[in-house]
Amino acid sequence: MSKIYDVIIIGGGPAGLTAGLYAGRAKLTTLVLEGEKLGGQIVITDEVENYPGAVEEPTGPRLVDRMVKQYKGFGGEIVMENVESFDFDGEIKTIKTSKNEYQAKAVIVASGASPRKLGAKGEDKYVGKGVSFCATCDAAFFEDLEVYVIGGGDTAVEEAVFISKFARKVTIVHRRDELRAAKSIQDKAFANEKIDFIWDSVVEEVAGEGLVEEMTLLNRKTNEKTVIKADEDDGTFGIFVMVGYIPKTDIFKGVLEMDEAGYIIGDENMKTNVDGVFVAGDCRQKPLRQVVTATADGAIASISAEKYIEGH
Ligand code: NAP
Repeated sequence: MSKIYDVIIIGGGPAGLTAGLYAGRAKLTTLVLEGEKLGGQIVITDEVENYPGAVEEPTGPRLVDRMVKQYKGFGGEIVMENVESFDFDGEIKTIKTSKNEYQAKAVIVASGASPRKLGAKGEDKYVGKGVSFCATCDAAFFEDLEVYVIGGGDTAVEEAVFISKFARKVTIVHRRDELRAAKSIQDKAFANEKIDFIWDSVVEEVAGEGLVEEMTLLNRKTNEKTVIKADEDDGTFGIFVMVGYIPKTDIFKGVLEMDEAGYIIGDENMKTNVDGVFVAGDCRQKPLRQVVTATADGAIASISAEKYIEGH
């Protein structure tokens, strides 16, 4: 362990790769540590339609490949190792993975967030084939089809209203008989003629040949099972899982300031409460979690890290 990087970025999604691109371009020595898959959530998105310029082959994985190439083109390094512990005290920060120990003058945390899953049978298999975790990304693919939105919080109910602009019919499936969402948001859904509700029910199974064709619901009060099948003419329907998010910030608890849900708090320069540690992307407390806001965070965090290093 002799090398001290200028910047270590924890997380290789759009926020981390953009932070790396900016740092590399500023001639800072840069390392991205990624424990799972480069690209974060967009690698599970078949088509990215709402990232400016992504008009040809705008698939998530292709966009990530280009981000990686661009980052490496500026001399950035990537190591596929999971961060297990760290020491952010002092001017030189230390990060330990299962295999190695790394040091840097500044750290950018871009560890992301994952949509909470239902745990239903078939849920994983049909991601991108009818099951979606992102209405802004995927609602347009369900133009004139039927859609089921799972969840009863602000996100589910608000997104159900959004999806109703595309879908023929939207049904909110909630595990209780009253919504968690704010009354003002509920009112919009109740007043929307395209939106229907199934109460007290959870998804047990998703199935189909290729695309989603059926979904089994269990009524938690009556124990009755209902199999919902795709309309014959449609052949498929959408299932939007909106049951909350889980920020990947557990290991930073007690060191980086967070909100109740575990999102790291950063100021407009992406500075955290710890000197020399910055935050970017979906793990940050903010109102909109999209590729475009993640890359913007990454750019700002990188410039802030550069200024911080210059000042020390
Ligand atoms: P949330 O408030 O945690 O709601 C999650 C919903 O999913 C709840 O209705 C919950 O049911 C349900 N759920 C959780 N696990 C489930 C499971 N395994 N199976 C079925 N249902 C399950 O999450 P969110 O709606 O994403 O909101 C997150 C935060 O962002 C909240 O603080 C929210 O207020 C905020 N937000 C605000 C706005 C806005 O102000 N416009 C918009 C979006 C989000 P139960 O109700 O039974 O627990």
